[in-house]
Amino acid sequence: MATPIKMYSLSTCGHCKATKRFLNDCMVEYDSMDVDLLEGEERAAILEEIRKWNPNCSFPTIIIGDRVIVGHREDELREALGLTNNVELLFETMKKVQEPKGYFFNRDKEHVTQLLEALLTNKERYGYMACPCRLASGDREKDKDIVCPCVYREADVKEYGSCYCNLYVSKEWNEDKIPHVYVPERRKN
Ligand code: SF4
Repeated sequence: MATPIKMYSLSTCGHCKATKRFLNDCMVEYDSMDVDLLEGEERAAILEEIRKWNPNCSFPTIIIGDRVIVGHREDELREALGLTNNVELLFETMKKVQEPKGYFFNRDKEHVTQLLEALLTNKERYGYMACPCRLASGDREKDKDIVCPCVYREADVKEYGSCYCNLYVSKEWNEDKIPHVYVPERRKN
């Protein structure tokens, strides 16, 4: 049986939302409770329960079996849930293959991480890494032009220094030697 996961959160809290998003992206099942939406005795009882795990009663507080994780801590969650860091793996693999061809990851690591996570989400969803910035149909044949790296990347990087999603860029783009302009969509829907 899978270890039960419980999350105490606030409906208004950005860290709680980011943690939920992370757990959802990892397709992890969990129970969550927005404590700010509770009232009276129910709220008091839950706060008492949280204090046993986290005396500061801060949010989110996540209980995984008998382990407590406080705050939006993806590395700790990954470790507690036994998830390997597939994003890092993908990053290293793609970098090795693409850089010699003249395609570099955007120097903004956070942006790149989000896009790689989205590519992995699409891989789970559709069975192939559909472009995160385009609507995939779920039919690999119909979407073959937008499987990353898409067929439009070459022309986009040549003309604008960046692919449509700003994932792959040229060396000059990363070094600010060319302007960073919006890359128009080439795909005809
Ligand atoms: S636009 Fe960029 S991220 Fe999207 S599929 Fe093309 S190369 Fe990949």
